[in-house]
Amino acid sequence: MSLPVLINGAGLGGALKRNNIPFKLFERNGQSNVRAQGYRLRITSSGVEALDKALTPEVFTLFEKTCADAPKLGVRVKPDGSTAPFAAPPGGPGGRAYTVDRSVFRDTLLTGLEGNVFFDKNLEQYTVHEDKVTVSFSDGTTEDGALLVGADGVRSSVRRQHIPNFRGLDTGMRIIFGKTPLTPEFLAKLPEEYRDGMSLVTNEDDNSQPVLMFESIQFPHAEEVSTVNIPAPYMYWVLVVHRSKISSSDQDLWHLSASEAANLADQLTSSWNPHIRTIFGMSDINQTSIHSILSAGPEIDAWRPSARVTLLGDAAHVMPPTGAMGANTALRDAADLAQRIVAVGGVQSVDEAMIRSYEADLRDFAKTAIELSWRGGLKSFGLKPVEECEPISM
Ligand SMILES: Cc1cc2nc3c(=O)[nH]c(=O)nc-3n(C[C@H](O)[C@H](O)[C@H](O)COP(=O)(O)OP(=O)(O)OC[C@H]3O[C@@H](n4cnc5c(N)ncnc54)[C@H](O)[C@@H]3O)c2cc1C
Repeated sequence: MSLPVLINGAGLGGALKRNNIPFKLFERNGQSNVRAQGYRLRITSSGVEALDKALTPEVFTLFEKTCADAPKLGVRVKPDGSTAPFAAPPGGPGGRAYTVDRSVFRDTLLTGLEGNVFFDKNLEQYTVHEDKVTVSFSDGTTEDGALLVGADGVRSSVRRQHIPNFRGLDTGMRIIFGKTPLTPEFLAKLPEEYRDGMSLVTNEDDNSQPVLMFESIQFPHAEEVSTVNIPAPYMYWVLVVHRSKISSSDQDLWHLSASEAANLADQLTSSWNPHIRTIFGMSDINQTSIHSILSAGPEIDAWRPSARVTLLGDAAHVMPPTGAMGANTALRDAADLAQRIVAVGGVQSVDEAMIRSYEADLRDFAKTAIELSWRGGLKSFGLKPVEECEPISM
Protein backbone atom coordinates (compact mmCIF):
# COMPACT_ATOMS: atom_id res chain seq x y z
CA MET A 1 0.00 0.00 0.00
CA SER A 2 1.25 3.51 -0.82
CA LEU A 3 2.19 5.94 1.92
CA PRO A 4 -0.73 8.10 3.12
CA VAL A 5 -1.41 11.79 2.75
CA LEU A 6 -0.60 13.41 6.11
CA ILE A 7 -2.98 16.28 6.93
CA ASN A 8 -1.94 18.58 9.73
CA GLY A 9 -4.97 20.29 11.33
CA ALA A 10 -8.32 18.60 11.85
CA GLY A 11 -11.55 18.84 9.97
CA LEU A 12 -11.10 18.45 6.26
CA GLY A 13 -10.17 14.84 5.60
CA GLY A 14 -13.58 13.71 4.36
CA ALA A 15 -12.84 14.44 0.73
CA LEU A 16 -9.91 12.06 0.82
CA LYS A 17 -11.85 9.31 2.57
CA ARG A 18 -14.61 9.49 -0.01
CA ASN A 19 -12.08 9.08 -2.80
CA ASN A 20 -10.33 6.14 -1.12
CA ILE A 21 -7.07 8.04 -0.80
CA PRO A 22 -5.09 6.75 2.22
CA PHE A 23 -4.62 9.53 4.77
CA LYS A 24 -3.88 10.32 8.41
CA LEU A 25 -5.12 13.50 10.03
CA PHE A 26 -3.31 15.06 12.99
CA GLU A 27 -4.70 17.64 15.40
CA ARG A 28 -2.74 19.29 18.19
CA ASN A 29 -5.80 19.82 20.38
CA GLY A 30 -7.54 17.07 22.31
CA GLN A 31 -10.85 15.72 21.09
CA SER A 32 -12.85 17.74 23.58
CA ASN A 33 -13.89 21.28 22.80
CA VAL A 34 -11.56 24.20 23.28
CA ARG A 35 -13.03 27.63 23.84
CA ALA A 36 -12.01 29.31 20.58
CA GLN A 37 -13.55 26.59 18.43
CA GLY A 38 -17.26 27.14 18.85
CA TYR A 39 -18.11 30.25 16.89
CA ARG A 40 -20.74 30.45 14.17
CA LEU A 41 -19.74 29.92 10.56
CA ARG A 42 -21.70 30.66 7.43
CA ILE A 43 -21.19 28.05 4.73
CA THR A 44 -22.04 29.50 1.33
CA SER A 45 -21.71 28.55 -2.35
CA SER A 46 -18.06 27.43 -2.69
CA GLY A 47 -18.22 25.68 0.71
CA VAL A 48 -21.50 23.93 -0.09
CA GLU A 49 -20.15 22.80 -3.48
CA ALA A 50 -17.08 21.35 -1.75
CA LEU A 51 -19.22 19.53 0.82
CA ASP A 52 -21.34 18.08 -1.99
CA LYS A 53 -18.16 16.57 -3.42
CA ALA A 54 -16.52 15.56 -0.16
CA LEU A 55 -19.23 14.07 2.03
CA THR A 56 -21.06 10.79 1.65
CA PRO A 57 -24.87 11.22 1.35
CA GLU A 58 -25.21 9.99 4.96
CA VAL A 59 -22.75 12.54 6.34
CA PHE A 60 -24.31 15.29 4.20
CA THR A 61 -27.70 14.49 5.74
CA LEU A 62 -26.11 14.59 9.19
CA PHE A 63 -24.51 17.94 8.29
CA GLU A 64 -27.90 19.40 7.31
CA LYS A 65 -29.47 18.17 10.54
CA THR A 66 -26.72 19.72 12.64
CA CYS A 67 -27.12 23.17 11.04
CA ALA A 68 -28.68 26.11 12.79
CA ASP A 69 -31.71 27.97 11.46
CA ALA A 70 -31.30 29.57 8.05
CA PRO A 71 -29.66 33.00 8.13
CA LYS A 72 -31.89 36.08 8.16
CA LEU A 73 -31.23 39.79 8.38
CA GLY A 74 -31.90 41.40 11.73
CA VAL A 75 -31.78 45.05 12.75
CA ARG A 76 -29.19 47.75 12.49
CA VAL A 77 -28.92 50.02 15.51
CA LYS A 78 -26.65 52.70 16.94
CA PRO A 79 -24.85 52.17 20.26
CA ASP A 80 -27.54 54.25 22.03
CA GLY A 81 -30.14 51.75 20.80
CA SER A 82 -31.76 54.02 18.23
CA THR A 83 -32.43 52.58 14.81
CA ALA A 84 -29.80 53.16 12.13
CA PRO A 85 -30.53 53.22 8.39
CA PHE A 86 -30.73 49.66 7.24
CA ALA A 87 -28.17 48.21 4.86
CA ALA A 88 -27.70 44.51 4.28
CA PRO A 89 -24.50 43.40 6.02
CA PRO A 90 -21.71 42.37 3.67
CA GLY A 91 -20.87 38.75 3.02
CA GLY A 92 -24.47 37.83 3.61
CA PRO A 93 -25.80 34.60 2.24
CA GLY A 94 -26.92 34.14 -1.32
CA GLY A 95 -27.90 30.89 -2.99
CA ARG A 96 -27.55 27.77 -0.86
CA ALA A 97 -26.31 28.81 2.55
CA TYR A 98 -25.99 27.05 5.89
CA THR A 99 -25.25 28.30 9.37
CA VAL A 100 -23.13 26.01 11.54
CA ASP A 101 -21.44 26.00 14.91
CA ARG A 102 -17.74 25.44 14.24
CA SER A 103 -17.28 22.63 16.80
CA VAL A 104 -20.45 20.88 15.65
CA PHE A 105 -19.32 21.26 12.05
CA ARG A 106 -15.87 19.87 12.83
CA ASP A 107 -17.35 16.85 14.64
CA THR A 108 -19.70 16.27 11.70
CA LEU A 109 -16.86 16.41 9.17
CA LEU A 110 -14.89 13.92 11.28
CA THR A 111 -17.80 11.44 11.28
CA GLY A 112 -16.62 8.15 9.74
CA LEU A 113 -12.96 9.18 9.83
CA GLU A 114 -12.36 7.92 13.38
CA GLY A 115 -9.58 5.44 12.51
CA ASN A 116 -7.69 8.10 10.55
CA VAL A 117 -7.69 10.96 13.06
CA PHE A 118 -5.10 11.43 15.79
CA PHE A 119 -5.61 14.06 18.48
CA ASP A 120 -2.98 15.63 20.77
CA LYS A 121 -0.45 15.54 17.94
CA ASN A 122 1.41 18.81 17.62
CA LEU A 123 3.52 18.89 14.47
CA GLU A 124 6.87 20.57 15.09
CA GLN A 125 8.70 20.03 11.80
CA TYR A 126 9.03 17.85 8.76
CA THR A 127 11.82 16.45 6.60
CA VAL A 128 11.49 15.93 2.88
CA HIS A 129 13.16 12.83 1.39
CA GLU A 130 13.23 11.90 -2.26
CA ASP A 131 10.32 9.47 -2.01
CA LYS A 132 8.49 10.57 1.16
CA VAL A 133 8.04 13.22 3.84
CA THR A 134 8.58 12.53 7.54
CA VAL A 135 6.76 14.64 10.13
CA SER A 136 7.89 14.97 13.76
CA PHE A 137 5.54 15.69 16.65
CA SER A 138 6.28 17.28 19.99
CA ASP A 139 5.60 13.94 21.73
CA GLY A 140 8.71 12.55 20.02
CA THR A 141 6.87 10.40 17.48
CA THR A 142 7.22 10.57 13.70
CA GLU A 143 5.10 9.56 10.69
CA ASP A 144 5.99 8.98 7.04
CA GLY A 145 3.71 10.07 4.21
CA ALA A 146 3.69 10.61 0.46
CA LEU A 147 2.40 14.20 0.80
CA LEU A 148 2.05 16.57 3.77
CA VAL A 149 -0.89 19.01 3.70
CA GLY A 150 -0.61 21.97 6.07
CA ALA A 151 -4.23 22.62 7.05
CA ASP A 152 -3.07 24.03 10.35
CA GLY A 153 -4.48 27.54 10.23
CA VAL A 154 -3.10 31.05 10.45
CA ARG A 155 -0.05 30.11 12.58
CA SER A 156 0.70 27.04 10.45
CA SER A 157 3.90 25.23 11.44
CA VAL A 158 3.98 23.65 8.00
CA ARG A 159 3.84 27.05 6.26
CA ARG A 160 6.51 28.52 8.53
CA GLN A 161 8.93 25.84 7.40
CA HIS A 162 7.77 25.63 3.78
CA ILE A 163 7.56 29.41 3.12
CA PRO A 164 9.70 31.02 5.86
CA ASN A 165 9.45 34.50 4.27
CA PHE A 166 5.62 34.50 3.98
CA ARG A 167 4.35 38.00 4.73
CA GLY A 168 0.88 38.98 5.83
CA LEU A 169 -0.93 42.03 7.16
CA ASP A 170 -2.03 42.99 10.64
CA THR A 171 -5.25 44.92 10.00
CA GLY A 172 -4.99 46.48 13.48
CA MET A 173 -8.48 45.18 14.22
CA ARG A 174 -9.05 42.97 17.24
CA ILE A 175 -12.07 40.73 17.54
CA ILE A 176 -13.70 39.59 20.76
CA PHE A 177 -16.31 36.90 20.23
CA GLY A 178 -18.51 34.89 22.52
CA LYS A 179 -21.87 33.29 23.21
CA THR A 180 -24.78 34.20 25.42
CA PRO A 181 -27.14 31.30 26.23
CA LEU A 182 -30.72 32.02 25.10
CA THR A 183 -32.14 31.45 28.58
CA PRO A 184 -35.61 32.75 29.54
CA GLU A 185 -33.87 35.32 31.84
CA PHE A 186 -31.77 36.66 28.98
CA LEU A 187 -34.66 36.72 26.50
CA ALA A 188 -36.78 38.62 29.03
CA LYS A 189 -34.19 41.43 28.99
CA LEU A 190 -33.63 41.44 25.26
CA PRO A 191 -35.76 43.65 23.02
CA GLU A 192 -37.98 41.57 20.74
CA GLU A 193 -36.38 42.95 17.55
CA TYR A 194 -32.90 41.74 18.61
CA ARG A 195 -33.95 38.10 18.81
CA ASP A 196 -34.03 37.09 15.21
CA GLY A 197 -31.53 37.40 12.38
CA MET A 198 -28.05 38.88 12.14
CA SER A 199 -27.95 42.38 13.65
CA LEU A 200 -25.31 45.08 13.66
CA VAL A 201 -24.55 47.85 16.13
CA THR A 202 -22.52 50.57 14.42
CA ASN A 203 -21.72 54.17 15.06
CA GLU A 204 -22.56 55.82 11.74
CA ASP A 205 -20.87 59.10 12.74
CA ASP A 206 -17.56 57.60 13.83
CA ASN A 207 -16.37 54.41 12.19
CA SER A 208 -13.36 54.18 14.52
CA GLN A 209 -15.75 52.99 17.24
CA PRO A 210 -16.31 49.27 18.04
CA VAL A 211 -18.85 47.43 15.89
CA LEU A 212 -20.98 44.61 17.27
CA MET A 213 -22.58 41.82 15.27
CA PHE A 214 -24.96 39.43 17.00
CA GLU A 215 -27.21 36.59 15.93
CA SER A 216 -29.33 33.95 17.68
CA ILE A 217 -28.23 30.43 16.83
CA GLN A 218 -30.83 27.67 17.26
CA PHE A 219 -30.64 24.11 16.02
CA PRO A 220 -34.08 23.06 14.75
CA HIS A 221 -33.13 19.38 14.28
CA ALA A 222 -31.05 18.91 17.43
CA GLU A 223 -33.35 16.23 18.79
CA GLU A 224 -32.93 14.09 15.69
CA VAL A 225 -29.13 13.91 16.11
CA SER A 226 -27.47 11.55 18.58
CA THR A 227 -23.94 11.14 17.21
CA VAL A 228 -22.76 14.77 17.44
CA ASN A 229 -23.10 17.05 20.46
CA ILE A 230 -25.31 20.03 19.66
CA PRO A 231 -25.15 22.99 22.02
CA ALA A 232 -28.16 24.64 23.61
CA PRO A 233 -29.37 27.72 21.67
CA TYR A 234 -27.15 30.77 22.10
CA MET A 235 -26.63 34.27 20.85
CA TYR A 236 -23.35 34.51 18.93
CA TRP A 237 -21.70 37.90 19.19
CA VAL A 238 -18.59 39.49 17.75
CA LEU A 239 -17.16 42.85 18.79
CA VAL A 240 -14.68 44.31 16.30
CA VAL A 241 -12.46 47.13 17.55
CA HIS A 242 -9.25 48.84 16.47
CA ARG A 243 -6.29 48.18 18.76
CA SER A 244 -5.87 51.95 19.31
CA LYS A 245 -9.08 51.81 21.38
CA ILE A 246 -7.65 49.18 23.74
CA SER A 247 -5.29 50.32 26.47
CA SER A 248 -3.56 46.92 26.94
CA SER A 249 -0.67 45.90 24.73
CA ASP A 250 -1.17 43.05 22.26
CA GLN A 251 1.11 40.88 24.40
CA ASP A 252 -1.27 41.35 27.34
CA LEU A 253 -4.33 40.74 25.16
CA TRP A 254 -3.16 37.30 24.06
CA HIS A 255 -2.87 36.26 27.71
CA LEU A 256 -6.38 37.32 28.70
CA SER A 257 -8.52 34.55 30.17
CA ALA A 258 -11.99 34.00 28.70
CA SER A 259 -13.59 36.00 31.52
CA GLU A 260 -11.07 38.86 31.13
CA ALA A 261 -11.85 38.97 27.41
CA ALA A 262 -15.58 39.18 28.24
CA ASN A 263 -14.84 42.02 30.70
CA LEU A 264 -12.93 43.87 28.02
CA ALA A 265 -15.94 43.68 25.66
CA ASP A 266 -18.05 45.06 28.48
CA GLN A 267 -15.61 47.95 29.19
CA LEU A 268 -15.28 48.89 25.53
CA THR A 269 -19.05 49.34 25.29
CA SER A 270 -19.63 50.91 28.72
CA SER A 271 -21.48 53.89 27.22
CA TRP A 272 -23.82 51.74 25.12
CA ASN A 273 -27.52 51.17 25.65
CA PRO A 274 -28.05 48.67 28.53
CA HIS A 275 -30.31 46.46 26.39
CA ILE A 276 -27.43 45.83 24.00
CA ARG A 277 -24.91 45.36 26.83
CA THR A 278 -27.08 42.61 28.31
CA ILE A 279 -25.56 40.44 25.59
CA PHE A 280 -22.13 40.76 27.25
CA GLY A 281 -23.47 40.88 30.79
CA MET A 282 -25.19 37.52 30.47
CA SER A 283 -22.66 35.82 28.21
CA ASP A 284 -21.05 32.50 29.03
CA ILE A 285 -17.73 33.93 30.10
CA ASN A 286 -15.94 30.63 29.51
CA GLN A 287 -16.69 30.86 25.80
CA THR A 288 -15.18 34.27 25.06
CA SER A 289 -12.05 34.61 22.93
CA ILE A 290 -9.94 37.39 21.52
CA HIS A 291 -8.04 37.29 18.23
CA SER A 292 -6.31 39.72 15.94
CA ILE A 293 -7.65 40.06 12.41
CA LEU A 294 -4.73 39.12 10.21
CA SER A 295 -4.79 38.62 6.50
CA ALA A 296 -2.66 37.57 3.61
CA GLY A 297 -2.32 40.42 1.13
CA PRO A 298 -4.64 40.02 -1.86
CA GLU A 299 -1.61 39.33 -4.08
CA ILE A 300 -0.02 36.28 -2.50
CA ASP A 301 3.48 35.76 -3.93
CA ALA A 302 3.94 32.36 -5.54
CA TRP A 303 6.24 30.04 -3.61
CA ARG A 304 8.34 27.18 -4.93
CA PRO A 305 6.10 24.12 -5.19
CA SER A 306 7.11 20.78 -3.73
CA ALA A 307 5.72 17.36 -4.65
CA ARG A 308 5.83 16.46 -0.94
CA VAL A 309 4.36 19.48 0.87
CA THR A 310 1.42 21.78 0.23
CA LEU A 311 -1.05 23.97 2.11
CA LEU A 312 -4.75 24.74 2.27
CA GLY A 313 -7.09 27.14 4.04
CA ASP A 314 -5.90 29.79 6.46
CA ALA A 315 -2.39 28.32 6.41
CA ALA A 316 -2.08 29.61 2.84
CA HIS A 317 -4.41 32.60 2.78
CA VAL A 318 -5.93 33.78 6.06
CA MET A 319 -8.41 36.59 5.44
CA PRO A 320 -10.58 38.89 7.59
CA PRO A 321 -13.75 37.10 8.76
CA THR A 322 -15.79 40.07 7.52
CA GLY A 323 -16.71 38.36 4.25
CA ALA A 324 -17.48 34.94 5.79
CA MET A 325 -15.18 33.42 3.17
CA GLY A 326 -12.29 31.79 5.11
CA ALA A 327 -13.85 28.41 5.90
CA ASN A 328 -15.57 28.30 2.53
CA THR A 329 -12.24 28.85 0.81
CA ALA A 330 -10.56 26.17 2.97
CA LEU A 331 -13.29 23.68 2.02
CA ARG A 332 -12.89 24.57 -1.66
CA ASP A 333 -9.13 24.00 -1.44
CA ALA A 334 -9.60 20.60 0.25
CA ALA A 335 -12.12 19.35 -2.31
CA ASP A 336 -9.97 20.62 -5.19
CA LEU A 337 -6.82 18.95 -3.85
CA ALA A 338 -8.66 15.63 -3.39
CA GLN A 339 -10.02 15.82 -6.92
CA ARG A 340 -6.56 16.49 -8.37
CA ILE A 341 -5.01 13.58 -6.44
CA VAL A 342 -7.66 11.28 -7.92
CA ALA A 343 -7.14 12.76 -11.39
CA VAL A 344 -3.39 11.96 -11.42
CA GLY A 345 -4.08 8.37 -10.35
CA GLY A 346 -3.47 8.51 -6.59
CA VAL A 347 -1.10 10.03 -4.09
CA GLN A 348 1.93 8.08 -5.36
CA SER A 349 1.59 9.98 -8.68
CA VAL A 350 1.47 13.48 -7.22
CA ASP A 351 4.27 15.56 -8.70
CA GLU A 352 5.52 19.13 -8.61
CA ALA A 353 3.50 20.14 -11.70
CA MET A 354 0.24 19.02 -10.10
CA ILE A 355 0.99 20.89 -6.89
CA ARG A 356 2.07 24.00 -8.85
CA SER A 357 -1.25 24.05 -10.68
CA TYR A 358 -3.28 23.38 -7.48
CA GLU A 359 -1.46 26.19 -5.65
CA ALA A 360 -1.83 28.67 -8.55
CA ASP A 361 -5.62 28.13 -8.52
CA LEU A 362 -5.68 28.34 -4.73
CA ARG A 363 -3.98 31.77 -4.80
CA ASP A 364 -6.30 32.92 -7.57
CA PHE A 365 -9.45 31.94 -5.71
CA ALA A 366 -8.06 33.35 -2.45
CA LYS A 367 -7.38 36.73 -4.11
CA THR A 368 -11.09 37.17 -4.89
CA ALA A 369 -12.11 35.93 -1.44
CA ILE A 370 -9.67 38.30 0.29
CA GLU A 371 -10.94 41.24 -1.77
CA LEU A 372 -14.55 40.39 -0.92
CA SER A 373 -13.69 40.07 2.76
CA TRP A 374 -11.99 43.45 2.66
CA ARG A 375 -14.94 45.05 0.96
CA GLY A 376 -17.22 43.79 3.73
CA GLY A 377 -14.78 44.94 6.41
CA LEU A 378 -14.39 48.45 4.95
CA LYS A 379 -18.12 48.90 4.61
CA SER A 380 -19.36 47.77 7.97
CA PHE A 381 -16.55 46.92 10.42
CA GLY A 382 -14.13 49.87 10.28
CA LEU A 383 -11.38 47.87 8.55
CA LYS A 384 -8.59 50.10 7.20
CA PRO A 385 -7.58 49.93 3.53
CA VAL A 386 -4.87 47.35 2.75
CA GLU A 387 -2.22 50.10 2.28
CA GLU A 388 -2.74 51.29 5.87
CA CYS A 389 -2.22 47.84 7.42
CA GLU A 390 1.06 46.74 8.95
CA PRO A 391 3.08 44.14 6.99
CA ILE A 392 4.11 41.30 9.32
CA SER A 393 5.92 37.96 9.17
CA MET A 394 3.46 35.18 9.82
C1 LIG B 1 -15.04 34.89 14.74
C2 LIG B 1 -14.83 34.28 13.40
C3 LIG B 1 -15.90 34.09 12.52
C4 LIG B 1 -15.73 33.51 11.28
N1 LIG B 1 -16.80 33.34 10.47
C5 LIG B 1 -16.65 32.74 9.26
C6 LIG B 1 -17.78 32.47 8.41
O1 LIG B 1 -18.93 32.78 8.75
N2 LIG B 1 -17.57 31.84 7.21
C7 LIG B 1 -16.32 31.48 6.80
O2 LIG B 1 -16.17 30.92 5.70
N3 LIG B 1 -15.22 31.71 7.59
C8 LIG B 1 -15.36 32.31 8.79
N4 LIG B 1 -14.27 32.52 9.61
C9 LIG B 1 -12.95 32.08 9.15
C10 LIG B 1 -12.77 30.58 9.37
O3 LIG B 1 -12.96 30.24 10.72
C11 LIG B 1 -11.39 30.12 8.95
O4 LIG B 1 -11.07 30.66 7.70
C12 LIG B 1 -11.37 28.60 8.87
O5 LIG B 1 -11.58 28.04 10.14
C13 LIG B 1 -10.04 28.13 8.29
O6 LIG B 1 -10.02 26.74 8.32
P1 LIG B 1 -8.62 25.99 8.37
O7 LIG B 1 -8.97 24.53 8.40
O8 LIG B 1 -7.73 26.49 7.31
O9 LIG B 1 -7.95 26.44 9.74
P2 LIG B 1 -8.49 26.30 11.22
O10 LIG B 1 -9.96 26.22 11.26
O11 LIG B 1 -7.79 27.38 11.99
O12 LIG B 1 -7.95 24.88 11.69
C14 LIG B 1 -6.57 24.65 11.88
C15 LIG B 1 -6.43 23.44 12.80
O13 LIG B 1 -5.04 23.10 12.86
C16 LIG B 1 -4.69 22.81 14.19
N5 LIG B 1 -3.24 23.05 14.32
C17 LIG B 1 -2.61 24.25 14.34
N6 LIG B 1 -1.26 24.06 14.48
C18 LIG B 1 -1.06 22.72 14.55
C19 LIG B 1 0.10 21.91 14.71
N7 LIG B 1 1.32 22.44 14.81
N8 LIG B 1 -0.05 20.56 14.75
C20 LIG B 1 -1.31 19.99 14.65
N9 LIG B 1 -2.45 20.73 14.52
C21 LIG B 1 -2.32 22.06 14.46
C22 LIG B 1 -5.55 23.77 15.01
O14 LIG B 1 -5.68 23.34 16.34
C23 LIG B 1 -6.87 23.76 14.23
O15 LIG B 1 -7.73 22.73 14.67
C24 LIG B 1 -14.43 33.10 10.87
C25 LIG B 1 -13.34 33.27 11.74
C26 LIG B 1 -13.54 33.86 13.00
C27 LIG B 1 -12.35 34.02 13.92
